[in-house]
Amino acid sequence: MKRIAILGSTGSIGISALEVIKKAKNDFKAVALSANSNIALLKTQINRFNPKFVCINDGLFFRRLLPEIKNRVRAFSGSQGLLSMLRHKDIDTVLLAISGSAALEPLLEAISCKKTICLANKEALVMAGAIIMKRAALNKVKIIPIDSEQSAIWQCLQGEDRNKIKRIYLTASGGPFRKINGSRLKKVSVRDCLAHPRWKMGRKITIDSASLMNKGLELIEAMHLFGVGPDKIKVIVHPEAVIHSMVEFVDGVILAQLSVTDMRIPIKYALSYPERIDSGIKPVDFVKLKKLNFEAPDLKKFPCLGLAYQAAEKGGTFPCVINAANEVSVQSFLRGKIRFIDIPAVIEKVMSKHKFTISPSLGDIQNADNWARNESYAAIERLN
Ligand code: NDP
Ligand code: MG
Repeated sequence: MKRIAILGSTGSIGISALEVIKKAKNDFKAVALSANSNIALLKTQINRFNPKFVCINDGLFFRRLLPEIKNRVRAFSGSQGLLSMLRHKDIDTVLLAISGSAALEPLLEAISCKKTICLANKEALVMAGAIIMKRAALNKVKIIPIDSEQSAIWQCLQGEDRNKIKRIYLTASGGPFRKINGSRLKKVSVRDCLAHPRWKMGRKITIDSASLMNKGLELIEAMHLFGVGPDKIKVIVHPEAVIHSMVEFVDGVILAQLSVTDMRIPIKYALSYPERIDSGIKPVDFVKLKKLNFEAPDLKKFPCLGLAYQAAEKGGTFPCVINAANEVSVQSFLRGKIRFIDIPAVIEKVMSKHKFTISPSLGDIQNADNWARNESYAAIERLN
């Protein structure tokens, strides 16, 4: 029985993870749940899953829910509360599905407590991948990816020698604007972006998917998870999203992982790793599908992906800066303060001003993150 903490249980991945746990009661138990502020859903989850521990990040919502739950769970609040909860010996696996940079601290804490990590969040690895992977190796901690592309690569690499990787093909569905003329991107709304053709996800990652920054973040994520340089990772648009990524080896053999687009598949794989358990999810219908299509990404139309390649090649604090500038720009876009096409413009401005550190400490990363956020707000002010 794996005793799992679901961090971000009220989000898109968290909800799917709890569905997986519900269907495999003999294998998994959700011993801890955490959310930022969605106490209505969290309360339902507490009633259904009966966890031992709960953390609510936002103090106001914590105080609101506490009287109702204090006799049934041990309740924690705030970012420090989350770290205290994670240290508990009754948790052996941490499924990290908090969105954005807020996942970095809990990830590092879970590693130092030697918990097994099932990692959905990508921003933490983008910010501080080298430090995270080094600490995970030192503590002999496994980081099993949930992001579907990374899960695919991880599965293709089982039993393989990573030194024999020739190339990784990171597949992208292309997002909702794959077919529209680039000039129309000036006018796209938040609603247009949220209509993703293949996946139903949280708001931030959905905007990232529309701008292709999601693929840029995944490029950097893959570099750290699999120890390869950006020159060995090729992004390829595959609109059916049936192949979740591929690995080519030095002998010319290419392995791919295929399945329907359902995040419960990589979540279940990460939780049950190294075993496979029945998913009950419908199979791919190849006859109905008939063909799989591939095309090169349009970097002119989607400059975020090119910027991510630049940050990946430069390394050091650049990936952290691109992540912070992207988070601030996406929030501003979601709040109606800037246009969709301003997202790469702001990121590029901030990157052009950055004086980077090649082998950053955690402190350097925090400074670069703060600096990039302030620069992004200033760049956004100048736009308006
Ligand atoms: P959502 O926005 O749907 O959910 C985010 C979760 O994190 C919610 O439970 C939210 O709580 C919680 N949260 C947000 N901010 C904080 C904070 N500061 N402290 C504590 N908890 C917080 O995101 P997704 O589930 O879509 O994505 C989660 C992560 O997984 C992202 O990094 C994303 O890139 C990655 N990912 C997601 C995929 C998907 O299909 N959705 C696929 C691959 C990767 P509340 O509900 O209370 O706000
Ligand atoms: Mg993905």
